[in-house]
Amino acid sequence: MAKGTPSFGKHQEKTHTRCRRCGRHSYHETKGVCAACGYGKLRKMRTYGWQTGKMSGKRKSTPTQRAMAKKFR
Ligand SMILES: [Zn+2]
Repeated sequence: MAKGTPSFGKHQEKTHTRCRRCGRHSYHETKGVCAACGYGKLRKMRTYGWQTGKMSGKRKSTPTQRAMAKKFR
């Protein structure tokens, strides 16, 4: 079977529909679970830290020599 455009003609059964909670087209009809927000499985929203993007200064690191010099002056 070809994997490209010709086989996409067989993709007629719909798995995901519009989610009631997040509005994304990620709600699995037969599973009853949203892949994007976890609706149907989780009471809270499905979120991960890596979704927010930047680390936004949360990364811990040892202070630089310059920062240390400032501290103990
Ligand atoms: Zn959802």
